[in-house]
Amino acid sequence: LGRHKDETRSSHFEYNGVLFSQHSLHVFAGLCAVDSREHVELMMQALQANHQVCARMGAYKPRTSPYAFQGLGTACLPYVFELAGKYGIKVIAMEVTHESHIHEIDQALSKAGNPTGVMLQIGTRNTQNFELLKIAGRQQKYPILLKRGFGITLEESLNAAEYLASEGNRRVIFCLRGMKTNAGDPHRNFVDFAHVPVVKRLTRMPVCIDPSHSVGSRAQSPDGIMEVMHVTAQGIIAGANMVLVDFHPAPEKALVDGPQALLLEELPRFLEDVAIAREAY
Ligand code: PEP
Repeated sequence: LGRHKDETRSSHFEYNGVLFSQHSLHVFAGLCAVDSREHVELMMQALQANHQVCARMGAYKPRTSPYAFQGLGTACLPYVFELAGKYGIKVIAMEVTHESHIHEIDQALSKAGNPTGVMLQIGTRNTQNFELLKIAGRQQKYPILLKRGFGITLEESLNAAEYLASEGNRRVIFCLRGMKTNAGDPHRNFVDFAHVPVVKRLTRMPVCIDPSHSVGSRAQSPDGIMEVMHVTAQGIIAGANMVLVDFHPAPEKALVDGPQALLLEELPRFLEDVAIAREAY
């Protein structure tokens, strides 16, 4: 990915008709956790109405508490893929936490007739799950969205990305999602989007930002600045190539991270802000 190996190789790639590079920009808005077919359909409808061809959909959720909702898993894949096809979604970012999830996605996609593509997301809790990285790196079918580890150095997270590349999969996007600190942050995680240009300087990977898991709420300042939108603009001005962001048709009913989900009616304004920030970049 530009750090330890053949410097002439590039890390840009096209997947299912969508081009990813250090110059492109794509928004992956969607459900942090799939909870019903109805919500998936409302989300996909909103994406299509706003000319979006990428989405995020969480089926396998790594939760801090074993008693918390763990995601619908393989049960929701048939309708997620079917609806993605119906609404013209070309790439879905979907987290996997185990090798079996990759096989389940593979089977569900081919059973549905491959109506969409999937980008395998490796979450912050698995950034240094080296066996999972090797397995994801060995398969060439799906590109990978690797999240920065929230409590390790940037260097360690970039080395995790090299695990994917060294096993053969160079279609990797690196995602900044905020860091844990012990400084009593007002946000869920300390927003680290100033590191977008640093990652681009050190590697050739496209860089994603996740404003939802960084900020962790729909909070706004008295002058009406919604913090999720504000940090998104910061990240895009810093050169981000992808935005992973939580939306939900009814955040109060969401089973995971409802407080940080934006409303579907906020999607046009969000996309407008993204476009303005991109122009400023
Ligand atoms: C997510 O994107 O759904 C998620 C759990 O993110 P992270 O791994 O960054 O906590």
